[in-house]
Amino acid sequence: MTRRHLMKLLSLFGLAPLASQAQAPAAFAKPAAGAGSAPAAAAVTDWRKLTAADWQARLTPAQYAVLRREGTESSHTSPLNAEKRRGAFHCAGCDLPLFSSDAKYESGTGWPSFYAPLSGAVATKTDFKMIIPRTEYHCTRCAGHQGHVFNDGPRPTGKRYCNNGVALRFEVTA
Ligand SMILES: [Zn+2]
Repeated sequence: MTRRHLMKLLSLFGLAPLASQAQAPAAFAKPAAGAGSAPAAAAVTDWRKLTAADWQARLTPAQYAVLRREGTESSHTSPLNAEKRRGAFHCAGCDLPLFSSDAKYESGTGWPSFYAPLSGAVATKTDFKMIIPRTEYHCTRCAGHQGHVFNDGPRPTGKRYCNNGVALRFEVTA
């Protein structure tokens, strides 16, 4: 196999830089003309590429500890426990809507609890921090840790998404 052939194969799998891709970061970082509005600005942020220092600058220390270090806030500390209005709970890291107030319920745990996330908003992985495996879940856009999901929730899903309130921002429906 020739080197040229190999590079072509690699590029097919996205493993070799193409000339156009090499220029992409510079173009990406440059704000588009008229990018003053919030949605346009949010759309160009590559959340997965932010460094720890970037996140520390964006978040409060409590948010950073949960979202980026998989910490857990103390129970009964979040004002969102008592939030009963209609609206959406957004990721405090990137503002992606994660849960509807329709799926919120009182679990008695002292953490905001939901029986289902919005479609495609969170992804899960298994963690072993407490020795017994737990299912961690995080925001699909910025990968910020939100909480753990358990199988003792109410109908219709039987799931309990136990969320850190500090990792959420509530947006009330007008
Ligand atoms: Zn996020």
